[in-house]
Amino acid sequence: MNNFKKLCVHTITTKPWSIEVAMDKYVEAGISGITVWRQWLEGHDISKVGDQLRERNLEIVSTCRGGFFPAKTQPEIDTAIEDNKLAVREAAELGAPMVVLVCGAVPGQPLPDSRKQIADGIAACLPLAEELNVKLAIEPLHPMYADDRSAINTMAQANDVCDHLDHPLVGIAADVYHIWWDPDLETQIKLTGEKDRLFAFHICDWMTPTTDLLNDRGLMGEGCIDIPSIRKMVEASGFKGFNEVEIFSNRWWERDQDEFLAAIKTAYLNNS
Ligand code: ZN
Repeated sequence: MNNFKKLCVHTITTKPWSIEVAMDKYVEAGISGITVWRQWLEGHDISKVGDQLRERNLEIVSTCRGGFFPAKTQPEIDTAIEDNKLAVREAAELGAPMVVLVCGAVPGQPLPDSRKQIADGIAACLPLAEELNVKLAIEPLHPMYADDRSAINTMAQANDVCDHLDHPLVGIAADVYHIWWDPDLETQIKLTGEKDRLFAFHICDWMTPTTDLLNDRGLMGEGCIDIPSIRKMVEASGFKGFNEVEIFSNRWWERDQDEFLAAIKTAYLNNS
């Protein structure tokens, strides 16, 4: 039995590796899925990268990331929508079924205004997403990012946007790092299952103390998140997708990435 058939790694997790190195290393390690961050596609023939991943039997789980819809001026809003349409086209070219959205926020702009711009921005991308059959996954971000990274901070808010748009291609990426603290978590995960909109599940850990708000995520088991319990909720809701390891960590990026990948596999088996 392959213990890693539901294990996916994000290219940003092994940031020092190029897409070419990452795909060979992941296959060699027996990892089954890959989520490709868009920076890894820059300067590449995207459809060729897709072919290379398929030749290696690496399942392309998603691309990261679109979003950042809110802005203070109409030209900036339009630019954001164009970038998201580009993200949808890139996903289709790569053969990825989904784009993950970090929805965005603007310091000083009321969060309800940003949420409206996010919903409108996603709606503006939906015709193209339909044409290319690419799903859009709203990732709620921890409230510490409500200033400039996302006005969508809870599963409930993400569910609200999904309810409002009411479209089968719009769903949610649940990341334990952002939602582990939420007292309403079980109810909201259940709701995403009932509405068939849980599109992705991201794992990592919360370090105590956290030394960097962005780049100090832990390997599963290093921190305080009860990942097995959240995974149980997610699986009880009917989710059958990948466990995607998404770790931004200066500490781990400085280390030997082969050792890191081996540690990810061990942590996945023991702490996820
Ligand atoms: Zn995530």
